[in-house]
Amino acid sequence: MTIRSRTRFIAAYLALLAMWLAVATFSATRAARTAVAALSAGIFTVLAALGFRMLPRPAGQAQQRRLALFPERNPDPVLALSADGQVIYSNAGAREMLKDLGGKEEDIHELLPTDVRQRLEAVRALPSATQVWEYPKSNHVLACSIHFLADQDEFHAYITDITRHSRVEARLSHQAHHDTLTGLPNRRQFQERIEQVLAASAGGRRLAVILMDLDRFNVITRSLGHGVGDGLLQAVTARLEHLLVEERAMSADATLYRFEADVFAILVPGFTEPQIPLHLAERMLAGIQLPLYVNTREYFVTFSIGVSIYPVDGEDGISLLRNADTAMQRAKQLGGNNLQAYSQEMNARAAESLSLENYLRHAMEHNELRLHFQPEIDTRSGQITGVEVLLRWTHPERGVIMPSEFIPLAEETGMIVPIGEWTLRAACAQSKAWSSAGLAALTMAVNISARQFHQQDLPGLVRRILQETGLDPQMLELEITEGVAMQDVEHTRATLRQLKDIGVRLSIDDFGTGFSSLNYLRRFPIDRLKIDQSFVHNLTSDENDAAVTRAIIGLAHSLRLKVIAEGVETPEQLVRLRREGCDMVQGYYMYRPLSASALEEVLHAKPAPWMTRIDPQRAPANRRPGS
Ligand code: C2E
Ligand code: MG
Ligand code: MG
Repeated sequence: MTIRSRTRFIAAYLALLAMWLAVATFSATRAARTAVAALSAGIFTVLAALGFRMLPRPAGQAQQRRLALFPERNPDPVLALSADGQVIYSNAGAREMLKDLGGKEEDIHELLPTDVRQRLEAVRALPSATQVWEYPKSNHVLACSIHFLADQDEFHAYITDITRHSRVEARLSHQAHHDTLTGLPNRRQFQERIEQVLAASAGGRRLAVILMDLDRFNVITRSLGHGVGDGLLQAVTARLEHLLVEERAMSADATLYRFEADVFAILVPGFTEPQIPLHLAERMLAGIQLPLYVNTREYFVTFSIGVSIYPVDGEDGISLLRNADTAMQRAKQLGGNNLQAYSQEMNARAAESLSLENYLRHAMEHNELRLHFQPEIDTRSGQITGVEVLLRWTHPERGVIMPSEFIPLAEETGMIVPIGEWTLRAACAQSKAWSSAGLAALTMAVNISARQFHQQDLPGLVRRILQETGLDPQMLELEITEGVAMQDVEHTRATLRQLKDIGVRLSIDDFGTGFSSLNYLRRFPIDRLKIDQSFVHNLTSDENDAAVTRAIIGLAHSLRLKVIAEGVETPEQLVRLRREGCDMVQGYYMYRPLSASALEEVLHAKPAPWMTRIDPQRAPANRRPGS
């Protein structure tokens, strides 16, 4: 009833009362007065009863009735507990949930946290604070808030099923902390974890960071597409996880993370022996080189790895990571596929390499690159049959810089593409110039780096340069390393085939360091294998290396390939290689890499001094100009 209708009702009631008084006072007969009085009394009694019903009830009562319905109608469980924790009331929602969770009605307390009594104590101690607990109940997650009603000395518990909500929350948290492609924890989680471990390691515990970057991964994705790239990253992840499981005994708590595109990290907390992180990194370096499969195709990848160790290489997460990164960059500069532990000098070197990169950009414009030529000698005739073209960079301040320092840098930055093209053109032009001048016809062996090999249309470039310079394709040999050849064998086979169709010669450099199988070698249209210097170096001191060298020579010959050994430094090595039937040799013992003019002098000289020293009877003359 509104206030206005209530006012009108009271006004009407008072008017009628006045009328009755008038009639009762002024009625003529006593009987009439009595009749009017009786009728009016009846009417007023009814009206009063109606009116009182219609008058508002005291507000508190209505509120109480309404509130009393609240817990009963609430679809979520509501429980009232006595001071000692017994359930003294439960609503329909509570019984419904208990049924859903597979409980019986008499076990209604099962909806509460198991340690509810302690919690009640906590609530009683701090009644003004809202306390909410989350806890699992048969595959569900429940949240319970408990309030203490001091005046009644009882507790009220309100329960909600937050299973869906907590799943979404868990998924969001997982997404924020994990990489979606590989499912590995990500950089954010790494950073949180490293801080946790460091906070706990104040008592002298150990911690190491192993940072691993795939070599030339951008080249792989550029030439093979992102689909294969993603597949390869998943295969790399599976391999690393497998290797970590194998090494569990050494570092049970080591965890793998994916940082970004092709950078992975391992956090090694609490290792027992100081050499463990490096040993683990070595295992990753070696294990990743074995073939990986994506859609049944085989791929080969390598890592550049940097390691930093707490507390010597950094006392906080940021410095440990930065220094592991510096060590990893150093590993990259050294050509990849290697492992570097951080050292203080590396920071200075990193700064130096940055300035080197800036200088390298100008090196070609400023005409600072030069070709050197290292003779390749036929072991039977002793004649120089070809030369390997090796780049030299004369830096305005630092003098001559060797390729091992700047080629990996050029490869990383992409500068290798214009530098490689320049080298190829200059080598072909030089060979043509020598043959036009009537000097010996020498095969020019030019090194092709990974990025060049995967660049768009290398065969087209080679064809154009041969046409421009007019060099006979037979006089050009292209060297790719075994590692590059094995990265994607299908691509290698197709590119080598196109190059072969042009008529150039092809060789596999640094052979013996990768994982070539005989099967691939057979399928590549190559002419020559170059035995890696590391085997030649120990040829006369290490029987294993001697055996590998002998096997490579036998293998090459059975595939009708020629073999050349590089890095020959002593007469003993030369004698041994000749005895094993190696076709050609190259090394400091015969000739160091020479400038164009120095090589011309050599070609005029006779006889080759090294030949007389090892085999006086068969000391042949070098080929004479025009001979
Ligand atoms: P590589 O193709 O295996 O070249 C052979 C390296 O061994 C050369 O080093 C050569 O000077 C060195 N060498 C030759 N004989 C001996 C010896 O008896 N003992 C020792 N210890 N070393 C010997 P260099 O000139 O420093 O070149 C290093 C690497 O840089 C080359 O290895 C090649 O991979 C790369 N490189 C050089 N020039 C070029 C180029 O024009 N393009 C590309 N892409 N890479 C190049
Ligand atoms: Mg070479
Ligand atoms: Mg080599």
